Amino acid sequence: MIEENVKKLLSEIPEKNIYGEKVTLVAAVKLQNATDINRAVNAGITDIGDNHVQEFKEKYGFITGNPRRHFIGHLQTNKVKYLIGKVDLYHSLDRLALAEELSKRSLSAEVVSSALLQVNIGDEQSKGGFAFDEALDAYKKATAMPSLKLKGLMAMLPFTDDLQLLKRLAAKMRELFERVRDLDGGAEYLSMGMSGDYKLCLDAGSNVIRLGTAIFGQRNYN
Ligand SMILES: *Cc1c(COP(=O)(O)O)cnc(C)c1O
Repeated sequence: MIEENVKKLLSEIPEKNIYGEKVTLVAAVKLQNATDINRAVNAGITDIGDNHVQEFKEKYGFITGNPRRHFIGHLQTNKVKYLIGKVDLYHSLDRLALAEELSKRSLSAEVVSSALLQVNIGDEQSKGGFAFDEALDAYKKATAMPSLKLKGLMAMLPFTDDLQLLKRLAAKMRELFERVRDLDGGAEYLSMGMSGDYKLCLDAGSNVIRLGTAIFGQRNYN
């Protein structure tokens, strides 16, 4: 199943988005065991993304094939220390205190950490991230921190069937991404799109999608 899903996705997902930017598929591996993650990597997955520090730590040594590592979940400031030097891209910079901690820890470990600023595009209580209107200012502030390299934006669209709303929000994120890129040439990534909405996100100009269910099937929360 996993192998078939990966092969099908890799053949279906365009190599480039509508702006000619390379599309990166990140496998969202929360609650998946190392065996299944390794199966996905063997089938062609090059990037994997974790949500929980504890899971990340437990599985870290068991992942084979050397995929690029992403951290895509909410990150508590006191847990940053466990990830430093092990994560290629943090997607969920959702507050300046987290940016400061990442910067401080990276500086003392003599590494540079790359991160995306998370934007709460649907203005949802249940989701983290900067408000749309605050994002540009926060991006500038985080960009000035040492040993932290901002590389773009991340967003999660709301869970809704309202396609027009989803398209409007996805387009707004692309506009914001272009504004960020204008002020910082290092902004490469717009990480937006999950199993239910990734096609719409790619059509809007996302270039990183994070898929869990589409690769591993329904998650077992028990
Ligand atoms: C779980 C998760 C995903 C993947 O969700 P699916 O709907 O299973 O594809 C993507 N991004 C984040 C931040 C997640 O927590």
